[in-house]
Amino acid sequence: MAQQAIGGGSSAVAASTHAACQRFRGTDPLITGMTRRGLAKAVGFADDFGGIPDARWMRAMAFERLVRDSRFASQVATTAVGQLGLNRPTSVVTANAKLSEDRTAELLEKAHKRAINAGAATMLYGLAIPFVGFEGDGATDVKPDFAVVAPRNDDADASWLIMGDAKDYERVRSRIDDSRLMKGFLQVALGAESADAWSKLPVGMQVHRYGVLTVPRNAFLQPEALIEPLDDHRAEVSMRVAERRREASAVEMAEDVALTEHVRHLKATFDPSTCGSCTLFSFCRQELRDSSDPADLLIEIGVPTAERPQVLGMVDGSGEIGIPTASTRAQVEATVQGIAQTTGQFRVDQAGRPGTVNVVIAKSDSAALGVYGIAIQRVSSTGETAWTSSVFDDPQGAQTRLDIMRIIGTEIRASLKEQRLANSEETDPIHLVVPDKPTADVLVSVADNLAGIELSRLRWAQDIAMGRPALTFNGEQAEVPAPLNDLERLAVSFLLEEDRARAFTLRSPIIDLRSTLARHLIPGGPTVNALRLDYLVAWTGDGRATRERHRQVSDEIEAEVHTPGARLANRRSNDIHAALTGEKKGDPRPAKPAEYTSLVEDELAYKQETVTAAISTLRTFPDSKLCAVYRAVEGDAQEVWRRRLSFHASDLVRFGRTYRFWRNALVPAIEADDKCARQLQALTNPQSAFDGATDAGTRHLALATVVCTSPLEIKLDSRRIGDGDRIVMLHVNDVPCVEDASVGITFQKGSFKISDLSIGPLRAVPDAERAYTWSPEIVPELAVDDRLVVADFSWFSKLKGNRALSIDRPKPDTNSSPGVNCSETSYVDDPAGHRYCCRPHEDAEAEWSNTLAERRARGELNPEVWPPVVDEDAFEVAPTGAAVGDPSGEPAQPAPDYLTVDDLD
Ligand code: SF4
Ligand SMILES: [Zn+2]
Repeated sequence: MAQQAIGGGSSAVAASTHAACQRFRGTDPLITGMTRRGLAKAVGFADDFGGIPDARWMRAMAFERLVRDSRFASQVATTAVGQLGLNRPTSVVTANAKLSEDRTAELLEKAHKRAINAGAATMLYGLAIPFVGFEGDGATDVKPDFAVVAPRNDDADASWLIMGDAKDYERVRSRIDDSRLMKGFLQVALGAESADAWSKLPVGMQVHRYGVLTVPRNAFLQPEALIEPLDDHRAEVSMRVAERRREASAVEMAEDVALTEHVRHLKATFDPSTCGSCTLFSFCRQELRDSSDPADLLIEIGVPTAERPQVLGMVDGSGEIGIPTASTRAQVEATVQGIAQTTGQFRVDQAGRPGTVNVVIAKSDSAALGVYGIAIQRVSSTGETAWTSSVFDDPQGAQTRLDIMRIIGTEIRASLKEQRLANSEETDPIHLVVPDKPTADVLVSVADNLAGIELSRLRWAQDIAMGRPALTFNGEQAEVPAPLNDLERLAVSFLLEEDRARAFTLRSPIIDLRSTLARHLIPGGPTVNALRLDYLVAWTGDGRATRERHRQVSDEIEAEVHTPGARLANRRSNDIHAALTGEKKGDPRPAKPAEYTSLVEDELAYKQETVTAAISTLRTFPDSKLCAVYRAVEGDAQEVWRRRLSFHASDLVRFGRTYRFWRNALVPAIEADDKCARQLQALTNPQSAFDGATDAGTRHLALATVVCTSPLEIKLDSRRIGDGDRIVMLHVNDVPCVEDASVGITFQKGSFKISDLSIGPLRAVPDAERAYTWSPEIVPELAVDDRLVVADFSWFSKLKGNRALSIDRPKPDTNSSPGVNCSETSYVDDPAGHRYCCRPHEDAEAEWSNTLAERRARGELNPEVWPPVVDEDAFEVAPTGAAVGDPSGEPAQPAPDYLTVDDLD
């Protein structure tokens, strides 16, 4: 083996999702001597899935550049040093080791001297350190993005080496996913382990227990430093590295064995939901597709190992089945027959109805909040308006975000007006309807960004009114933005309502069409495929019913240049990015305007078609009796939101920034919502009720079989429900009882009352195990062997009679919101009495601005204090003149071959 290729994509080395798979481990570049991408190509399945879109790569590069920008470099270094309780450095020096091992050693030595002689900190980047355990082996180095060398407090002759790495992780709804952060810190830990083991580490320099991960603080990639202890991460890394070494020495690539044979011999642990990011995905899947063993079909579509024996009979022709979950059974059935199965649920959503606004967007891979274009359509009582689309020349510009809000605000306002005119007493809610969750996330994140800016603006307005300079949290001159106009503010306010609503299952300011349709339709093939709306839609109709259908549809969707949701397919992403940036630096943006516009519009058109098709499919399902219940819950909540909006009272607060008392008060509200959601789901969805009834953890649901009809006798499959308990019948042979024509719903202030379901007590039949006579007040028409799902009545309600069941109506979240009796002058007239209801943002931010000014005057804020104060709000406003990342600023370059998207995410 000439060169051991183990560095480069070292995050995948430290923390791979695929580490449990022997084939993955046995194809380590250490063993094969080639990159994973090269290997996939060599075995005839060039990897199309793990590739990195050019724009995504440019974003990673732009972020890395920003981390090196002198201003941020010194900020990152001082935050790290400050948070570790070290002395304030006399100065911060930056140095570039240019990915050379010798230079890294030399610069570390200099930094060490600088620390002990002058008390200065050094920010080193572009480091190259031998991979732990492979020093002198000629193996590729570990390349940590940066490290900080700082003087020690406790030893004048020693210094700390604080390892770091930069990851341009996206903030989704202001948060970075925990599993991503963990992966990032594992990579920092790999750097720490390697540095610690390196023979050239200067004497007196010690690797610090803590490490730094820089991630974007905001949507403009400006970095912030996160500090964490590395002990656990280092233990994991060293275990993984040892495992790799063991595997590498155990698995020999025999000279005379073809590479494909070597790969085939390694046992694959295939799981379609995670294997997609492995470069061997196509290879392993094809192997399963070609297999003659019927059980392999179950692996191919991702049936969990424990459930496979239950459904094997459905694929091997024996026809015998155990008791699989209803969802797995339906998935296998759909796969084998080539016909999507239905869950038996009736519709409870509002998609396609008056008061809804359909929205699709094309997101740029180069920025968290970058949007190439948007298309929108409003549904009114007279039908749908035509879709209108807008393409943005500056996808990540501030004006684009405002334009998006104005476009959405315009339609929201029209919907609000229409709903109010239709029924001013009890106005129905409005909804945005989107093809997938990422679309909702981008829109909410944009709103959050603008809300943060607006709140900062209110504080600066107060500063200016008081004759103070407008400063950022770090005490730098701020660029004061213009206020949001009414339409922008309306959209921002509604989207933040959606953000706060995300903790509530029953709320639906934004309707995600994908999960809505998935509530009704189970397609064949892997469950992970059904995470794309166009895959689901492709399963409607049964014109192509064959056992191969799931493969055909999968292949078609994979070959599709378009996607239904916010994120683009790699190919389309690259084309659009190239049309935007052109070939030369300094080209105008977009460089090829006509091509750019037509590509974006073409992409939006596909998304529109998919949304339209999904809504048409939804319309083929009947409406549930409980649809109005869902609408009422959302309606109650939106009534509160409309009051917030008109008073400007805490309507710009994202979920993560709700005040402490508010968050605490939300706990019971979230519990009430959850219970109500589960009760409604049990009533309306036969499939999930069945799965609940067969799950030992769900005590209140059970399966029953009719043994005799007169007297009514059932066999009940439950240890928890028995003699003397009252039960309510929810489903008969997968048909929901609540949808029966005779069932009535009454809306009460505190509850929803559902009448005429079959409810009554059980009496044990002597000497017969789990057999009961059941005497419901409303006697259902049943036949022997009917399969029922029943529920413990007391789980629903305390009602004494057996004619009706009640469900507690969840109370809307009225914390920090205006009450029905608050008026426009309430707060001005009685500020103390209305402090926690209708107090407008304008007033609250002015007060906070004054408080901050006092603290600043007392020298309690950055840059005076040490250690620096961390800005918990993480608002989005950058100081005047601060560098921002611009991934579209130059022509795109493709990512290097040895990296996969696993390495970046
Ligand atoms: S794609 Fe193949 S090699 Fe990769 S993790 Fe999955 S089963 Fe293992
Ligand atoms: Zn009030």
